[in-house]
Amino acid sequence: MEKFRFLTIEELIRELDNYEFTQLHIHHTWKPAHSSFNGENHIQLQEGMYYFHTVVNGWEDIGQHLTLFPDGRWLTGRAFHKTPASIAGWNTGALAVEMVGNFDLPGTGDFNSLGYDKLEGEQRAEILKLIKYFIDKYGEETIIFHRDNPNTRKTCPGTSLEKATLIKEAKHIHEPSSWAKEAWQWAIENGITDGTNPREMATREQVVTMIYRAMKK
Ligand SMILES: [Zn+2]
Repeated sequence: MEKFRFLTIEELIRELDNYEFTQLHIHHTWKPAHSSFNGENHIQLQEGMYYFHTVVNGWEDIGQHLTLFPDGRWLTGRAFHKTPASIAGWNTGALAVEMVGNFDLPGTGDFNSLGYDKLEGEQRAEILKLIKYFIDKYGEETIIFHRDNPNTRKTCPGTSLEKATLIKEAKHIHEPSSWAKEAWQWAIENGITDGTNPREMATREQVVTMIYRAMKK
């Protein structure tokens, strides 16, 4: 089996369904940051983390089960059935996710020469889907930020992120934004969309099909 595997969120959730987890641990990598990512060096960055965890830290394996890249792609790390090296004292039964980026606000946390990042776009959309899965299956109290642990001085997963905000967004993932509600409802009633995936990107063929349906009325 490949050491690291790319999974879509659907494939990931199908695999996770075979396990029982007690907590979802959310981290930012801090280093590497978004500036370390060039759009195709997922494996290279993952190998760097693997090296750091196994050789520098002396761990048996990469610490996290999953890495979430700035483009929203998921890459597996440690096997799901193994305890992660995630948050000391809380690791048993946890699923550990590292989001590539430094999500501290400028001027907060430790200085990072790679710069500051925002959790947005596909990367934000993907972590929200995983959070939603955990909320539905295990309850929102199982969503854990690294800094929730009183024994860490880290700001991880970054001072720009608030857990309550992410949980709120995750719960509304299948609903349109408030500003789009009226148009969305109109489009469903007029047969232009079936109303699924309101916050997902559309391909050009989907856009054209929706215009076609609207104009043909
Ligand atoms: Zn962390």
